This record gives sequence, structure tokens and C-alpha cells, in this order.
Amino acid sequence: TNSQRLLVVANRLPVSATRKGDASWQLEMSVGGLVSALLGITEFETRWIGWAGVNVTDEIGKKSLTKALADKRCVPVFLDEDLVNLYYNGYCNNILWPLFHYLGLPQEDRLATTRSFQSQFDAYKKANQLFADVVSEHYIEGDVIWCHDYHLMFLPKYLKERNNKMKVGWFLHTPFPSSEIQRTLPSRSELLRAVLVADLVGFHTYDYARHFVSACTRILGLEGTPDGVEDQGKLTRVAAFPIGIDPGRFIRAIQLPQIKEHIKELEERFAGRKVMLGVDRLDMIKGIPQKILAFEKFLEENPDWHDKVVLLQIAVPTRTDVPEYQKLTCQVHEIVGRINGRFGSLTTVPIHHLDRSLDFHGLCALYAITDVALITSLRDGMNLVSYEFVACQASKKGVLILSEFAGAAQSLGAGAILVNPWNITEVASSIGYALNMPAEEREKRHHHNFVHVTSHTSQEWAETFVSELNDTIVEAQLRI
Ligand code: UDP
Repeated sequence: TNSQRLLVVANRLPVSATRKGDASWQLEMSVGGLVSALLGITEFETRWIGWAGVNVTDEIGKKSLTKALADKRCVPVFLDEDLVNLYYNGYCNNILWPLFHYLGLPQEDRLATTRSFQSQFDAYKKANQLFADVVSEHYIEGDVIWCHDYHLMFLPKYLKERNNKMKVGWFLHTPFPSSEIQRTLPSRSELLRAVLVADLVGFHTYDYARHFVSACTRILGLEGTPDGVEDQGKLTRVAAFPIGIDPGRFIRAIQLPQIKEHIKELEERFAGRKVMLGVDRLDMIKGIPQKILAFEKFLEENPDWHDKVVLLQIAVPTRTDVPEYQKLTCQVHEIVGRINGRFGSLTTVPIHHLDRSLDFHGLCALYAITDVALITSLRDGMNLVSYEFVACQASKKGVLILSEFAGAAQSLGAGAILVNPWNITEVASSIGYALNMPAEEREKRHHHNFVHVTSHTSQEWAETFVSELNDTIVEAQLRI
């Protein structure tokens, strides 16, 4: 075919590989937001480039994995263990992730991080070079290259250094913080300059894009324009492209006979009680302790509700080898235990807290039976759980309580009850308001959200970004 090729470069490939023998691999496709967003694009011939998440040190392993992945249109980047430790665990997850989400580190970690900063930053650049090597090997003139996320901020620069004709876009899936936060990063200028080499830079919300432009003007002294950032006549286009989900996948799922059966079972299980739901990775940014404290306050102030409401909290384990995350797990368990001890009875408890993930169908069934979804992220790039909940609520028309610090608050703000997750008095009273909301108001709010979620799909998001990238390049050529 003569359709344009799209090279999607992200830290992780959309498949997980497990080694089964010397030269044999088991591959499993993972369906995250980005994967389902790009699976739907038919006008491009898409290829993925990224790390397979396994440490492969021998040539036979590397060759056979490369071959196995090729069938899935995936190309691996091999990173050795030390590099992964410094680049991924270190610079990406220990420095950029907390910084971009406005999270402070504990004092002793902060000092340790300060000391190891340079070696982690060097590893970050080295890893980005390895990604650039693989992209260059596979690049054919005319390809569009779409780099994803905070792991690959040097990639636009390294790619254009090799071949200035490459069409390069970069998209950030996390928030971009205020320039005052970016300012504290020792590598603040180099990172910004490396990203600015891209032709198009995208964010989930207008606020993140604005923060990025003002970081470039304040830290680099460049000029911000309505279209982006200008450096000596060269414009880098900066814009907001809010991601969506594939709503049809959820709407179809809850109509399957086996899911309907599961929904019925759950409804019987929780009959006579309103169901509140939280679904989060167990990450500091999700504000799980704050959420549970607010729920406790609600129970304290509303004894009538004690046996009439249950909170189901799915807390998906993440980065479990990091002490900070282990501490968070303990903290959450302690609060949940206290509340269940205080407000539970011999037969029921107010909080069902699960340290596990659910499969797609299990998750859909839970979304469908929920009366009130409670999302209290302290910061969140977008938050797709809020979109997925709305997609599964066509018949129930439940209420969404959503943190104003999630990117999704920009798009679902008119239908959701927005809260400041730090203000547990406000969250507690919002819980009461949501549980008592009359049907008419619920329907109106749900309708608002449902229209948004079903008309702003992930596929449309990806198509818009890529076509904007193509347009940007055409415009730049006209300007010369
Ligand atoms: N998810 C899942 N199983 C679970 C819990 C969550 O597959 O048990 C998925 C969920 O459907 C959603 C994603 O994980 O697509 C979470 O995305 P979100 O943007 O809400 O947060 P992130 O984890 O990316 O910070």
C-alpha cells in the first residue's frame, strides 16, 4: 500500500514478552489507552518501537525476540539492567514523575537524588540515544515519528541530529507543571531545548501547554506565541490534544450475556446499598489516603448511611519494589482497617479494599453497577478511569466525583462534581450530595459526560495529532 507509515516510539512496547526457551518467546498484547487509541487508526501503517520490559543479554535471545515481535509490528530497543535502573527507575520514575506531578520527595530521598542526579541524567540521555539508533535504522523517508511521554524528551533532538528531514512529534501523557517547578530541575534547559526540536509538541490540556510555553519563555528566554514557541524564526508548534477512550469497546462489553450475568450477581450482592467505586494504581498521585479519609468523615457525620453504602477501592499494585510505594500501601491498609473496625458490623464492612487489578470484563461490570465513582487524584495527566466509568453508565446514570487536578476535569467538569482532594470536608459533603442526588440531575449530568466521552474518542485523538503534525511541517516549508 502507499499509506503513510507512522512510527510510534514509547518507553514500553504494547506487548509483554516472557522467555520460554533459548529462542522462544511468549508475547501478550496489552491494551492500554495508547494501544487502543492507535489500533483504531487505519489511514496509517503503524509500527511500534520501544523496550520489551525484559533484560536480554545474549544474541540468540535478542535475535529471536526481534523476530517474534516483528509479527506484531513491534521493534525492540534493548536496554541493559544498569541502564534501566538509572534511566527508568532513576531519572524517569524518581525524578521526572514526582516533579511533573508536583510531589515532593522525603528529605533523605531528596538528598540521595541530588547526589546521584548526574549519573541518572547521563543514563537518560544514553537510553534516548539507543531509542534514536533503533528509530533511525527503521526510518524510511516520509515516515511520521511520534515520540511519547517523559521517558523520551531527548528523542526529538537526537532524531533530528541524525536526519533533519524527519517529521517528529512529541506528546506528554502526564501534566506539565508550572515553570516554577520545572525551574528546580538541574537539567531544566537541556530538557526543554531537546523537546523544542520536535515539529509539534502536544499535551492533554491547555493548561499544561501554557505551562510548557511559559517554561520556555522564562527559563530559555524564548518567545511564546499563540501557536507555540519561537526561536530565531523557527517555530515549534505547541497545542492541546486531550486523549479519549474507545467507548464502543466498553459499551459492547456490558451488553455481553456473561457480563450481564456478572452484573446481576454483583447487584444482588450489594442489594440495599449504594456502591461507590475507586479504581487507581496505588500511586501517590492518586490521593487514595485522602479519599478514604473523606469517606470516613462522611460516615462519621452520617450515621444513617452506615449500612447503606459501600466503597469498593481497586488499588492496582505498581512499582512495588520502591520503598515509597510500600509505605503508601501500609498507610492505606492502616486507614482502611481503622475505618472498617470503627464502622463495620459482624456481617458487613464499609470499605472493600483490593490490592490487585481486574481484567477488562470484571472492570466493566464494576463500572456498570456503581452509583458514585470517586476519583481524587492529587495530580493526573488525564485519568481514563473517569471516561471508562461514564461509558459504562448508560443505564444507571451514576454520579462522577472528580478531582479538579485531573486533566479530565477540563472535559468532564460540567457533568461531574469537581472537588479539591485535599479538602476532605468538601469531598465528604460531595459524597453526601452525590448519594442523595435526584434522578433528574443525575441524568442531566450523565448525559453531558456521555456525549463528551462518546464523541471524543482515542482514535480521533491520534488522527488529529498526526494530521496536525503533517500540516505543521507543510506550513513550515511554506514559510522558508
Ligand atoms: N485498569 C485495568 N485493570 C484494573 C484497573 C485499571 O485494566 O484493575 C486500567 C483502566 O481500565 C485504565 C487504566 O488502567 O485504562 C488506568 O488509566 P488512568 O489514565 O486512569 O491512570 P494511569 O494508571 O495511567 O495513571
